[in-house]
Amino acid sequence: MADSWGSLDSFEGKEFNTLDPEFTKKVTKLIGGQDLTTCFQCSKCSAGCPVSDKVNIQIHEVMRMLLFGLKEVLDSDMVWLCTTCYQCQERCPQGIDITDILFGLKNMAFRKGIRPQGYASARQNLYDNGKLYAPTDWEREDLELDPVPEFDINDTKKLFDKNKLLSLEEEE
Ligand code: SF4
Ligand code: SF4
Repeated sequence: MADSWGSLDSFEGKEFNTLDPEFTKKVTKLIGGQDLTTCFQCSKCSAGCPVSDKVNIQIHEVMRMLLFGLKEVLDSDMVWLCTTCYQCQERCPQGIDITDILFGLKNMAFRKGIRPQGYASARQNLYDNGKLYAPTDWEREDLELDPVPEFDINDTKKLFDKNKLLSLEEEE
């Protein structure tokens, strides 16, 4: 398996001592989580996942861990390497909104400080500048695009403040 991110890089030799029903309950309250308990482990989601050969923990295993209340799932690479392509969601015979659940898991992990390096600084950058990176003039010229319109950074900051972008961790 590829070198990857997260401390849960394999099930091998791993003993899970805490099955936390409260965690499962929390996940069922996420957007998409209401159908979590209908997963019957067919693995169709993993079979169509474009990053299945890059991750250590497959998406159907993530679903099983969520059902078992295994919080260690937040430390698995699948949570962050998911490309949000929605393939799994489209394929799931139970109609589970898997990708939407993964968005919620990202937020949960971020709040706990479990995130790949660079995400916190990217967030600060987004807050300070209103964009993740500044496109260069030549890039836009190549695409025959007009210059980026000016915008008031204070407006975007107000929006981010309203959504508590910089205080996500405090909500846990
Ligand atoms: S496709 Fe749906 S039912 Fe099948 S394992 Fe994945 S989440 Fe579960
Ligand atoms: S949305 Fe994520 S988990 Fe689902 S198939 Fe795409 S990459 Fe895989």
